[in-house]
Amino acid sequence: MGKVVAVANQKGGVAKTTTVVNLGACLALLGKRVLVVDTDPQANATSGLGLNPAKLSRTLYQVLLGEVSAEAVKLPCPSVPGLEVIPASIELAGAEVELVGVAERESLLRRALGPLRSRYDYLFIDCPPSLGILTLNALVAADGVLIPIQCEYYALEGLGHLLNTIQLVKRRLNPRLEIEGVLLTMFDGRTNLSIQVAEEVKKHFRGKVYRTIIPRNVRLSEAPSHGKPVAIYDPRSRGAEAYFELAREVMGSA
Ligand code: ADP
Ligand code: MG
Repeated sequence: MGKVVAVANQKGGVAKTTTVVNLGACLALLGKRVLVVDTDPQANATSGLGLNPAKLSRTLYQVLLGEVSAEAVKLPCPSVPGLEVIPASIELAGAEVELVGVAERESLLRRALGPLRSRYDYLFIDCPPSLGILTLNALVAADGVLIPIQCEYYALEGLGHLLNTIQLVKRRLNPRLEIEGVLLTMFDGRTNLSIQVAEEVKKHFRGKVYRTIIPRNVRLSEAPSHGKPVAIYDPRSRGAEAYFELAREVMGSA
């Protein structure tokens, strides 16, 4: 049975999407079967993996509405063998309102992914920057939460809300939910700030922080506009090296 990991943090710009795209791609390139599930109406993971959300007639939106199966909308990532995507579309922005009154609306994603789980080693869910119905669906569907934290000012601000939400979901809806790991991102070793934030996060999440730290690397920010994960766009970059190292750590072989 594949492991379902929700990549969540209601703060925007902390590298949720970058992590889903690049960790997913590195695991696939290391021979794992990987599914990326894009739940963000911005569809950045979808486009970052080389698919054009504007051209897709069926996406996760129709899956959540119960019109089609997840199987019917999943597509292969054009540049990475073994990596598949359930794409998002801007229509998901209406989900919050449109799903009002739908029975068990927080479990729609879990039910949709059920039949697919055994076909993958890892399923990564990219969450939007909010704690609304889409992130809730991701937390209910997941076995673990990966929390990316940007090594910047206010890194820990707002995390209490996320941790409370995770506890609430665990108590009421998904008892198997655990914090999979906390990932330090956009680390700049030349600044005291990055070093201080990293230390503070390690103290706060004792034992839960990945050994791998993702450095700030311009190749990581360029790759999405080429529709490729960094491991394809520039395999020798520091960004690619870091996400390969994280992939090995996640596989338990680092
Ligand atoms: P989120 O999904 O949490 O909103 P993104 O993954 O979209 O965050 O990242 C926010 C921005 O930062 C994007 O422009 C992305 O390309 C850039 N970025 C993410 N990680 C790095 C990194 N390690 N080095 C440089 N730029 C990064
Ligand atoms: Mg994102």
